[in-house]
Amino acid sequence: MEMVSIAVVGSGYVGLVASACFAEMGHSVICVDNDETKVRLLRDGGVPIHEDYLPELLNRNRANRVEFTSDLRDATQRSQAIFIAVGTPQSKTGSADLSYVDAVASEIARSIDSDYKVIVEKSTVPVYTNEWIRRVIERNGVPRELFDVASNPEFLREGTAVVDFLHPDRIVIGAESERAGKLLSSIYEPLTSGAYYRLPQSVPGCCGEKNPPPFLLTSTKAAELIKHASNAFLAMKISFINVVANVCEAVGADVEQVSRGMGMDSRIGPRFLRAGIGYGGSCFPKDVAAFRHVAEQLNIDFGLLKEVETINEEQKQRFFQKVRSALWTFRGKRIGVLGIAFKGGTDDIRESPALDIVEQLLKEGCTVSAFDPAAMERAKEIIPPGQCMRYVSDPYAAAQDADALLILTDWQEFAELDLDRLHYTLRYPIVIDGRNLYDPDEMRQREFTYLSVGRPISHPMQDAAAAYRLP
Ligand code: NAD
Repeated sequence: MEMVSIAVVGSGYVGLVASACFAEMGHSVICVDNDETKVRLLRDGGVPIHEDYLPELLNRNRANRVEFTSDLRDATQRSQAIFIAVGTPQSKTGSADLSYVDAVASEIARSIDSDYKVIVEKSTVPVYTNEWIRRVIERNGVPRELFDVASNPEFLREGTAVVDFLHPDRIVIGAESERAGKLLSSIYEPLTSGAYYRLPQSVPGCCGEKNPPPFLLTSTKAAELIKHASNAFLAMKISFINVVANVCEAVGADVEQVSRGMGMDSRIGPRFLRAGIGYGGSCFPKDVAAFRHVAEQLNIDFGLLKEVETINEEQKQRFFQKVRSALWTFRGKRIGVLGIAFKGGTDDIRESPALDIVEQLLKEGCTVSAFDPAAMERAKEIIPPGQCMRYVSDPYAAAQDADALLILTDWQEFAELDLDRLHYTLRYPIVIDGRNLYDPDEMRQREFTYLSVGRPISHPMQDAAAAYRLP
């Protein structure tokens, strides 16, 4: 295996995970961030984000194969490949804000001296971004033969980021030159050859020595489009099942049965068919908007994506109405909330539908006691603790004397609560589950009033369930 010297710019969810994993795959990695506090924390052995396996991987490689710095110039000069993994947030128009990518590309350009470099887009960017990066670098006087720009979109999911990175469904490389394509394929060779999976310390997952991940070489434009189109498609799948859930509610069917039946069709597949309170996070909302914007710029009507966004927004409102239907009025009610992160397994609260719902509850005059296994510190920066907003140390403390308990994030531990304890902890045994973690029949038998998404309401006195139905 060829050891490649790599710089990764940005030490967020993607950059830090990529740095740790590249090091684990045997490469020499310099992870760059312009946030000095983060760099100091990482140098001191800290891990700023919550991801399984990440602390172990960083600890194992910190001494010899991964270093942290804010000096992009030095990192560029010492690396063969420079991965740009900075944020590409949504701008006011819906397009991707590429100013961080632009700033990094300019600094890389000013740092290239005599050695050939491949600059790799790891961030999610719109089609044509590689062209812009190339122009920025050329504009800074770097001769064409000294660099290539390639695209290597990242498909990891927060919460399972390390496993996703090391066991990807596919590795996509968009490159126009053979030289760049070769360097990138050698970086991923430990995975594509299966060699990594033979290591005793390899992180377990679905790939293995005999079934390594496929490697797809495309044009840079195609690679950029693969990422945007994939995220838009997944968001569409979620919005689709959410509307199906609403139909199920209207006719008294169970969406879990419907999605199970749909997902058994290999053309559809079971994933991303879970009804809930809508998608969130730092990727789907902004990537759907950015892809819609790309189409708009090209005079292509992609109204389907607008609909995906509208459905997602309405799904949160629908859930809120469901809470209202269970409580009648909000002022002075005490609500227990399980989950603030946008999904289980992560501390990320960016665009979290759970956070939106908590904010609405507070606006309506409720008192909220919330628990999340990983996201509470971040949530406190958005909604500081106070008289009406309490952050508590476990799910039962959130439920204590509450008028209702809301499940807003699909953490596995929320699916394994002691229901008897929960019942006597709540003031009224009402559970409103935005993630369908429990079986409605079991909840009825345990004497809960249980409202979920796309499934019939359960109530200990079944006739009374009608009272909770949406008008
Ligand atoms: P993030 O906000 O967690 O991290 C970005 C990091 O870049 C921050 O640490 C920031 O300090 C740093 N940064 C910004 N400007 C910099 C500069 N000039 N020099 C050095 N560092 C700089 O972002 P993220 O979630 O890791 O996402 C990064 C990109 O990857 C985005 O384009 C995102 O869409 C894409 N992506 C994210 C995920 C995900 O699940 N988070 C998955 C796939 C792709």
